[in-house]
Amino acid sequence: MTNNKKAIVVGAGAGGLSAAVRLAHQGWDVTVLEKEAAPGGRLGAIEEAGYTFDIGPTIMMMDDVFRDFFAEVGRNIDDYLELVRLNPLYRLNYQDGTVMALPSDMKALLDEIRRINPDDVDGYLQFLSQIHSRYMAARKKFIEKPLNKLEEFLTLDTLTGMVQLKTLNNMYSDISRFIKDERLRIALTFQSIYLGISPFDAPSIYTIIAYVEHGVSGVWYPKGGMNAIGKALVRLLGEFGGKLRLNADVQSIVIEGGRARGVRLANGEELRADVVISNVDFPTSMETLIAPEHRGKYTPQKLESMTNSCGALMLYLGVNRRYENLDVHNIYFTRDYKETLDQIFEQDALPDDPAIYLYSPTRIDPSVAPQDKELIYVLVPVPNLSSGIDWETELPRFREKVIAKLERADLPDLRQHIEFEKIYTPHTFKQRFNLFQGAAFGLAPTLLQSGYFRPHISSDDVENLYFVGASVHPGGGVPVVMTCGKLAADLILKENGAPAVQWPKPAV
Ligand SMILES: Cc1cc2nc3c(=O)[nH]c(=O)nc-3n(C[C@H](O)[C@H](O)[C@H](O)COP(=O)(O)OP(=O)(O)OC[C@H]3O[C@@H](n4cnc5c(N)ncnc54)[C@H](O)[C@@H]3O)c2cc1C
Repeated sequence: MTNNKKAIVVGAGAGGLSAAVRLAHQGWDVTVLEKEAAPGGRLGAIEEAGYTFDIGPTIMMMDDVFRDFFAEVGRNIDDYLELVRLNPLYRLNYQDGTVMALPSDMKALLDEIRRINPDDVDGYLQFLSQIHSRYMAARKKFIEKPLNKLEEFLTLDTLTGMVQLKTLNNMYSDISRFIKDERLRIALTFQSIYLGISPFDAPSIYTIIAYVEHGVSGVWYPKGGMNAIGKALVRLLGEFGGKLRLNADVQSIVIEGGRARGVRLANGEELRADVVISNVDFPTSMETLIAPEHRGKYTPQKLESMTNSCGALMLYLGVNRRYENLDVHNIYFTRDYKETLDQIFEQDALPDDPAIYLYSPTRIDPSVAPQDKELIYVLVPVPNLSSGIDWETELPRFREKVIAKLERADLPDLRQHIEFEKIYTPHTFKQRFNLFQGAAFGLAPTLLQSGYFRPHISSDDVENLYFVGASVHPGGGVPVVMTCGKLAADLILKENGAPAVQWPKPAV
């Protein structure tokens, strides 16, 4: 199927690629322009010295979103990705010595909760019994709807959906209604860090993440790492005739007569198209790609006033031995959960006691590291660049603190075994991917930056201009960003007079 409509997508992240694949599948002439030498953005990889590190995402959940995405463009996901369901989901390490390996089997999970605090089993089941309807309301009435226009937001369906979300309190206080034990409260709320927001600030609806991990979808691992998903999207794009240009740094979006007409590259080249989709982090798109008179309400003051997610300090380590006691996903909590989070989110300071997420896929996927060696990915939540932290001065001391904590925990003598190391600070995320304030997860999903109140997929001010990505509705995380790409493509098809597409029914 072909038509003569042209789309330019700026950025080959999860959002840009998914919109591009869907439009290319519908016969559009699609060109994706990526400033880096490799596609994927945060979903990309560092492939060096025999190691394949995921740059950002490592936890795959909502597998149905990925399966449906492939099925709807007539492909079987299993021909592109080898997906493994993880059991346990992750290993949680508390400072009091408690270790919990959360099983994917419900009975075993209840037994694990009983081992920690028998009184909380009933509370956990009550949490489950009320969360499903909230999860369904979130997905059907918010995540899977574009919510571009006030009239779409002010429908009875959406308004009743808001009531069903029951999200006026924060995650931690919501979970505390059901659960008494602090370790279990932590286990059910730390997931807000996936979105770069403190569980003491995150709307309580995000307790659905624990529900999704524990029950609805489980946690999955694509062989090769999450970056295999980015590679699969690039493959799909090619199969549908879409083009990907790397090292193509877009300098501005060309707007004439109130309509997006194309883009101008840093080398001066101008490309024209019927629609432009920016996958560049939304605040950066506004700040750098769009002339001030077309930014509408997104003035520099407005952008500065928005709440961004935290940053991430990343250590990508190649280690010349194996640490057999690790699981794929490991978390090392701190002496005082709230104090650590307040230091990062309230005081804009590096935490005294860093919380650490460690990912070690080597044990289930030897392909990501040289033989007998281990890939260790370390993520430490830190403030974003608005904190003014001087990373040049702070990095050596803070890195030392992180390594020392890991050595005390599961990785004795780690520093002696590091044969490869790469570090990303919030500056790296800003420089490589143009993330506003180096905020690793984009705009924070506060209540006032969610749904209709989050930046819209379709520009409010410029015709034929669209935005996709973590800082745009419906929000961050790979499956949600891919949903954004789908919503954008579907809007474009509709607004360009295409008859409603009968996407094939997903096979699974
Ligand atoms: C450390 C970390 C861990 C994470 N963990 C998880 C996880 O476990 N699970 C999960 O689901 N999600 C996770 N996420 C979130 C997830 O990575 C993001 O929500 C998602 O990948 C964002 O995709 P995107 O399309 O918004 O943009 P990006 O990945 O930011 O892609 C945007 C692309 O645009 C390009 N670009 C920017 N400016 C220009 C320009 N001027 N010209 C051309 N190209 C340009 C960039 O180089 C980039 O390739 C994590 C994120 C981070 C940083």
